[in-house]
Amino acid sequence: MRKIRLHWQILIALILSILFGIFFTDQVEYVSWMGDVFLRALRMIIVPLIFSSIVSGVTGIGNSKNLGRMSAKTFGYYLTTSFFAIMTGLFMVNLLKPGKGADLGLSGVVEGLDVGAETFGQTLINIIPVNIIEAMATGDMLSIIFFAILFGFFTTKVKPSFSKPIEKTFNAIFEVMMQLTMFVIRFTPLGIFGIVSKMVAEQSDNLLPVISSMAVYMIAVIGALIIHAAITLPVLVKFIGRSNPLKHLRCMSVPLLTAFSTSSSNATLPLTLKAVEHNSGVSNETTGFVLPLGATINMDGTALYECVAALFIAQAYGIELTLLQQGIVVITALLASIGAAGIPMAGLVIITIILTAVGLPLEGVGLILAVDRILDMFRTTVNVWSDSCGAVIIARSEGEMLNV
Ligand code: ASP
Repeated sequence: MRKIRLHWQILIALILSILFGIFFTDQVEYVSWMGDVFLRALRMIIVPLIFSSIVSGVTGIGNSKNLGRMSAKTFGYYLTTSFFAIMTGLFMVNLLKPGKGADLGLSGVVEGLDVGAETFGQTLINIIPVNIIEAMATGDMLSIIFFAILFGFFTTKVKPSFSKPIEKTFNAIFEVMMQLTMFVIRFTPLGIFGIVSKMVAEQSDNLLPVISSMAVYMIAVIGALIIHAAITLPVLVKFIGRSNPLKHLRCMSVPLLTAFSTSSSNATLPLTLKAVEHNSGVSNETTGFVLPLGATINMDGTALYECVAALFIAQAYGIELTLLQQGIVVITALLASIGAAGIPMAGLVIITIILTAVGLPLEGVGLILAVDRILDMFRTTVNVWSDSCGAVIIARSEGEMLNV
């Protein structure tokens, strides 16, 4: 019920904030603090959320029985498809350029685009934190993610008497952080009201280009998602999984519709498990390994979305990203999607990682906030679809006979 209400609340907040920004231009300072509070809260949750999400996900992999082969395949699949997804997003956003040309008047706010000054090698070296506490304190997300993956991996390498309490602790922290995130997300309508009304007031003579560039932005995201879901993944299922993607799609109709309406891979997980096992005929072992992990780690739709959103924000600020910076967006989007939780609007939380990584202003989140909830429905569906295709491909590679 709450999820349905949130949709409506966001829509109402959006409409009210636009009206407020237009008609009460001088009064927006009384409400704009709500936007600041909301953005601060998003930044507050990010480090513990991502860290616990990755550690509990990676230790989850380590716990499986046929660990070596299965996890290599599963990780290989996750990374490859997420990478394809990001490239599709990169292509679309460079093709349609939703933020370009629409002079959003934001170019003045930018400072500290320092990444371009570094060489690619140096950027890679910098992923290794010299001090993890410092990386956490300064929100250096790439380093945090890097350390979290290593920490999770080596947790699986120590004696169970040591690893079990760590796993339990991080699973527990992750659960708490998900609850906390959902609590913050509930304030999205107020955040939107604060941010959007301020933006509208600042742009009041310039509204049409803003709206039209938002529309093109949505087309870029949804278009790229459709290409990934309707072409890339089915081709993989067909040729690598030697299965019928259309049949598999039919088997998956219930979880996909649920993903669309709940915007949560985690909430959809029980239905995904059931459909992939009972309808598509994948064994319990494979589904039990690939799908729960996929729900947190494998997020093609989210990865694609992060890339398009970051480039859209850059375009809107009139910033030409160098090839190196685009490369950093790709890598960060990949890593950040691993750390995103399978809950509504988690992708919005982690966009701040990418903005920080390439030195884009965090206020850029305000630009994409208003339509994030709608795009979340589409990207979550693609996340779940990709997990299920992964289960089919891996099952076939293990010699299983399927119904699809
Ligand atoms: N809602 C997405 C999911 O649960 C995550 C995201 O916000 O991108 O899969």
